[in-house]
Amino acid sequence: MSKLHKWLQKATYIKSAYLPRDFLCNPQAKEVAFWGRSNVGKSSLINAIVQQKNLAKISARPGKTQTINFFELGDEQPDRFLVDLPGYGYAQVDKKKTAHWDDLSHYYLTERSQLQCLFLLIDARRGFMKKDIERLDFLSSYGVPTIIIHTKSDLLKKKQQEALLNDSTNLINQYANIIASPILVSSSKKTNIYDIQKEIWRCLQ
Ligand code: GDP
Repeated sequence: MSKLHKWLQKATYIKSAYLPRDFLCNPQAKEVAFWGRSNVGKSSLINAIVQQKNLAKISARPGKTQTINFFELGDEQPDRFLVDLPGYGYAQVDKKKTAHWDDLSHYYLTERSQLQCLFLLIDARRGFMKKDIERLDFLSSYGVPTIIIHTKSDLLKKKQQEALLNDSTNLINQYANIIASPILVSSSKKTNIYDIQKEIWRCLQ
């Protein structure tokens, strides 16, 4: 097993933050964060990246990531964290709650000097939806370094995958804060997970 895989496999849960004052306070730390619509496959992807079954909780029930969750990566590199942000775009959840999660994520994304890169997850079957574009515009206006990941690629045929990557590349060319080509992944089939692992490593140097 490679050094990179071993490093990620040692990821451990540290804490959940319901308010900014609960964020980890280590100015030396470096973090990468994951964000996306409810049900986009964020928990499944985090588990695939760290090769653990249940580090991030997967469930069919929307609204489960209600806090910002901090995971520490292996100790070969101290103070390196993977951060799971609450999903957005919940249809069945009270608006007050979703507004709180959005505020918390926005605060984290705009104020967090430890943040090196935000991975924005887009469901491959749906492409960029209005709520995703709004987030992309927001990230762009704050110059947050961002990488786009298209999840659930196993649900698309080869031709559809090519078309999606093409459209995605055209769209993100308009955003100066996007720092890499879009990545098409499947957590179920473990496709292209290594590409994300390498980006995490690169961003956390
Ligand atoms: P989250 O709400 O963004 O954390 O999404 P989850 O990881 O909990 O996944 C939401 C649903 O999508 C679950 O039913 C997962 O089994 C499914 N899912 C996640 N990743 C994949 C994938 O790569 N392929 C397929 N086909 N389904 C996936």
